[in-house]
Amino acid sequence: MKPLEGRSALVTGASRGIGAAIALELGRRGAAVAVNYAGSARAAADVVASIEAQGGRAIALQADVSDPGACTTLVDAVASAFGSLDILVNNAGITRDGLLVRMSDEDWDAVVATNLTGAFAMMRGAAKLMMKQRSGSIVNISSVVGLVGNAGQANYAAAKAGLIGLTKSVARELAPRSVRVNAVAPGFIETDMTAALSEPVREAALGQIAMKTFGTPGDVAAAVAFLSSDDAKYITGQVLAVDGGMTFV
Ligand code: NAP
Repeated sequence: MKPLEGRSALVTGASRGIGAAIALELGRRGAAVAVNYAGSARAAADVVASIEAQGGRAIALQADVSDPGACTTLVDAVASAFGSLDILVNNAGITRDGLLVRMSDEDWDAVVATNLTGAFAMMRGAAKLMMKQRSGSIVNISSVVGLVGNAGQANYAAAKAGLIGLTKSVARELAPRSVRVNAVAPGFIETDMTAALSEPVREAALGQIAMKTFGTPGDVAAAVAFLSSDDAKYITGQVLAVDGGMTFV
């Protein structure tokens, strides 16, 4: 029997990059997976098809996680499709980089709304179901930037650091009901998000990584799958850096 057989999972922002890899990995380990996306319907359908091709079960659901009402509807849709919600992965995220003095209110608000408020609204909806079930796992995708900061990413670092505080607080609240809440903090992972960075920025990043190589979406997916599984049944409120030796915090 596969380790996540009989479980249902919801991964936000699962049409591309790290989220797609997480959805595929949870599906490979036997979970029924809801693949959330904002605009990339075709890419989300491809992820669903890949999970089905592995013999798994998956559905694609559009929802903009920066809209709290849409988050509630999304959680309800997954619960009615699968009959439960056992694993929630808050992965959807965006960047709007810029130096503090030039950062617009819009760029601040957009990053906080998607990366932090979205995870809050998703957890609020999922927690109600999971507390009733007296079981569940939530994994929030933060970033090493939330641990150590980054010039030009004040909005993103604040949202990702906030997500760590949110993770630890909710972990304390839900632990008595056997619901675990953890965070993964990826370092530099090769996706669309990092493909946009210039060569000098990439080289500078590589210089900070002890293992001298960038990570893959699969590296993050393996950590999330572990934290979502019974192998991590005594682990809650933790932040697991997947960064090839970048932060050492
Ligand atoms: P990516 O390739 O840009 O993919 C972002 C995903 O999030 C897409 O599936 C996108 O959906 C979805 N998304 C964006 N805004 C959304 C919204 N409002 N509602 C629902 N879905 C939304 O990003 P990535 O590199 O895989 O990053 C995934 C997560 O890891 C993010 O939280 C990011 O901050 C974090 N992270 C990444 C790195 C890295 O090096 N790549 C490092 C640390 C942390 P559509 O396709 O529909 O637009």
